Amino acid sequence: MRVGIGYDLHRLESGRPLILGGIEVPFDKGLAGHSDGDALAHAITDALLGAAALGNIGQHFPDTDPEFKDADSMELLRQSVGLVRDRGYAIGNIDANIIAQQPKLNPHLDAMRERLSDVMGIEIDRISVKAKTNELVGPEGRGEAMSTQAIVLLESGDAPSA
Ligand code: MG
Repeated sequence: MRVGIGYDLHRLESGRPLILGGIEVPFDKGLAGHSDGDALAHAITDALLGAAALGNIGQHFPDTDPEFKDADSMELLRQSVGLVRDRGYAIGNIDANIIAQQPKLNPHLDAMRERLSDVMGIEIDRISVKAKTNELVGPEGRGEAMSTQAIVLLESGDAPSA
């Protein structure tokens, strides 16, 4: 078994859709970025790549490359799942946090889990997404940014069971 950790932070900006886990969440601001700014997809992608020691999202999908401008981050996640599977790993489970003062994300978390389950090709009960505020302090608490954290467990297909 191998574990990987991912973290991301994006600034909030007016006039952009808020995309998290491939779901558009109604809000008057969205996450800035070269891609669609989906910080949840980015943290999970980095955790996956990290668990397999395959580098990070920026190495595979550079934000200097016009190909990835406004990229669908869930498509990048799908490709990263492929890279990990190609090396013989299966995804055990994922746990993720979204740190955001506003809007209330709890009503949207199950939709994110469903979308992640579809894109990653794993059962929804292997995917946990949690949301918390930052107690009004720091960039997340002041509504300047949202950050995300993810941890992923990979299991080697040919590993002996414990
Ligand atoms: Mg990012």
